[in-house]
Amino acid sequence: MRLCRFNDDRLGLVNGDYVFDVTSALDRLPVWRYPAPPFDTLIANLDELKSVITTLAGQAEPLHCLGVKLLSPVASPRKIIAAPVNYRKHLDEARLDPEIHHQNAIGEIRRVGLFLKATSSLVGAGDGIAIRHPERRNDHEIELAVVIGARADRVEPADALRYVAGYCIGLDMTIRGPEERSLRKSIDSFTVLGPWLVSADEIGEPDALTLTLKVNAETRQSANTRDLIMTVRELIAYASSFYTLYPGDIILTGTPEGVGSVHAGDLITAAIEPIGSMSVRVRLADAPNAVGSAA
Ligand code: MN
Repeated sequence: MRLCRFNDDRLGLVNGDYVFDVTSALDRLPVWRYPAPPFDTLIANLDELKSVITTLAGQAEPLHCLGVKLLSPVASPRKIIAAPVNYRKHLDEARLDPEIHHQNAIGEIRRVGLFLKATSSLVGAGDGIAIRHPERRNDHEIELAVVIGARADRVEPADALRYVAGYCIGLDMTIRGPEERSLRKSIDSFTVLGPWLVSADEIGEPDALTLTLKVNAETRQSANTRDLIMTVRELIAYASSFYTLYPGDIILTGTPEGVGSVHAGDLITAAIEPIGSMSVRVRLADAPNAVGSAA
C-alpha cells in the first residue's frame, strides 16, 4: 500500500500515477485531547485502517499525482533520527573534504552513533526546500527513510523489520560549517520525506535498494543500500537500545557518496526503486513571519 498526504492534509492512496482521496478514513482515528501521544496517530493505527482505506479508494475519483501538492507522508513524527556517515565511500569523501570535515568528528557510525533532527524541519516534496543561508554551502543528501510502525524498545536486529510501517525517500539537507550537526540539519524544510509511504510488505528486503539523486539534469548520487555500513535492521536495533521508538518515528539511514551543493532555483530529483521518484524545488526562504504568528 502506498499512502500520501496531499493538498490541505488530505490522505491519499496512491496507485500508479493516481491518488485516490481516502481522507474520511481519518474519522476512525482515536481523538486525543491533551497531551498529544508520543506517536503519529495515523501510523500507529495503520493496520486497522488498511481495509477501510482500500474500500474508500474504490469509491474515489482518480487524481493525477502531478496535480496534487505532496506533503510529508508522516504528519507528526516525534523523532527524526539520522545516521551520520553510513556508507564507506561517503566516509572517504567526507574525510577528504575540509568543508565537510571542518570541526566535526567524522567517524565510524558504530563509534559516533546517531543524531536527531528537529521535527519542525520536516516537509514533503511539494513544499520544496527553503534556503536561509545562501552565502553558505547547502548540500543534498539522499537517504532511505524508515518509518517505524510499532513501539520498539531494545529489539534485536533479527526482529527489527517487524517494527517497520514502511519506507520513503528522505532528503537530509545540510548546511556545512562548524555548528553542531543537529542544528545545521534542522533548518525549516531541511528534512524532505516523500513522495509517499510505501508499506513494508511492498518492499520486503530494504538492504538492496537503488538510490539516485539528480540536481537539474546532473546525476550526483547513485548507490545501493547494500553498501550501508549499518544495515536497516542494525540501525533500528541500535536506536532502540538508547530510546524507545514509536509509530511515526523516522530513521534516515545515511547518505552515500556524491553529496554536493544546491542553490535557489535548482530542482532535485530523488529516486529509490521501488518506492518511486520525487522532484523537490529549492528556493530562497520567505521573509520571517510577523511577531506572534503561530504558523
Ligand atoms: Mn545524512
